[in-house]
Amino acid sequence: TDIGLTDPSLLTQSCLVDGNWIAARPGAGIAVHNPATGALIAEVPSLDLEQIRTAIDAAHGARKAWAGRPAKERANLIRRWYDLIIANADDLARILTAEQGKPLAEARGEIVANAAYLEWFAEEAKRVYGDVIPSPAADRRVMVIKQPVGVCVAITPWNFPNGMITRKAGPALAAGCPIIVKPASQTPLSALALGVLAERAGIPSGVFQVVTGKARDLGGEFCANPKVAKISFTGSTEVGRWLIREGAHDIKRLSLELGGNAPFIVFEDADLDAAVDGAMIAKYRNSGQTCVCANRFYVHESLIDDFAARLAKKAAALKVGHGNETGVEQGPLIDEAAVTKMEVHLADALAHGAKLVTGGKRHALGGTFFEPTVISHAGQQMKLAREETFAPLAALIPFSTEDEVIEMANDTEFGLASYFYTRDLARMFRVSEALESGIVGVNSGLIANEMAPFGGYKQSGMGREGSKYGIEDYLEIKYICVAGL
Ligand code: ADP
Repeated sequence: TDIGLTDPSLLTQSCLVDGNWIAARPGAGIAVHNPATGALIAEVPSLDLEQIRTAIDAAHGARKAWAGRPAKERANLIRRWYDLIIANADDLARILTAEQGKPLAEARGEIVANAAYLEWFAEEAKRVYGDVIPSPAADRRVMVIKQPVGVCVAITPWNFPNGMITRKAGPALAAGCPIIVKPASQTPLSALALGVLAERAGIPSGVFQVVTGKARDLGGEFCANPKVAKISFTGSTEVGRWLIREGAHDIKRLSLELGGNAPFIVFEDADLDAAVDGAMIAKYRNSGQTCVCANRFYVHESLIDDFAARLAKKAAALKVGHGNETGVEQGPLIDEAAVTKMEVHLADALAHGAKLVTGGKRHALGGTFFEPTVISHAGQQMKLAREETFAPLAALIPFSTEDEVIEMANDTEFGLASYFYTRDLARMFRVSEALESGIVGVNSGLIANEMAPFGGYKQSGMGREGSKYGIEDYLEIKYICVAGL
């Protein structure tokens, strides 16, 4: 199908391995569908293990030259890639919407906001400082330098097909590491388009590669191959756990951005209009399919009915439709399994006494479209309080005291993001410090940016993306002891 690109060469169905573009073997490709229409849009390769080893060997072969280039040169190449992404953002957004479903404006937003990680880390490349530490002996000096970890692999999910790649490639390339990207099979086209632009920017062959194929086989090879130093993964906690196990053999370095179950607390002193606006963003962005999406709304019992009515009014007004149509704010869910999970959580909540305020069923558009839904009087015993729903279901749970709500908010094995709304300064500090999560949004439903550290506590993962901390995940610390002076 024609998706209307200004530069059609950005839509490639081939993988980038060692500077070569490899097409699918006839009859052995992975089909890519538009989730809004079900239409087949492309077929990408299912690379075999030999081809994956070629990619790993190429990265391994390229690593010394890449690490050896002055940081300023690496920075310039990353920056050129960033400029090309920005210049082609409209086309990249069309590709993203075609394979993932989110509205075009949101797709463009994802691309621009996450290309910023390339811009940021291009700058940080020049600031990988070491240390000279006071020595315990007169004839010695204690020096510290930082060096790239080596060949990296990024395994990325379908909910941010473009942004999750630049977030990982930025710090890796800046630190001096080649990186191989394995995108989700549902959404490989954004990754391949980034490969086209990386090559155009002059990033050397072997330094940035994109491979597609059977996730488990490729994952197994990445974990077992001693030439791979590090894997950076964003996806489910279950697969994260599997990577830890498989990578245990040679102590693979891992960065993991896993599931979330974000609480969103509205205290009795909140600015209610601001809280409703924040809730809309925190819940319905990407149709509820982000790992920082609010999954549980704890609303003070004095406000819950008012909050429910206002949120429901806005949710019901969201324009649902195909992402490439003007004005659309909610696309389809990624697949049938996502709809089923939403239905299971909703049915479970209603069976346990929750009240439907708006939505509640599949959208008239059919397919995997679902009505933006709000339910009230939900409770801690329901499935939606324990598991990530990853769908446009806002569940409101009443609370009465601060201590009680902090306990409920922390009663989860996840700890990625939390949100709360208050105008009380002392409470702002108290609650920020008490919440067990890597990110806390105070009076904001939108928290991620390249200058801030993104990552989770508890089973939401390890490592941080963005900020001055983000590059550390791709560096080793070397202590050099200089004696006999
Ligand atoms: P989601 O629920 O978001 O699809 P997954 O964790 O299943 O989350 O997928 C995230 C990414 O991990 C995708 O690129 C997927 O192909 C990949 N993946 C899934 N299983 C494995 C595995 N066993 N090894 C390596 N990658 C995997």
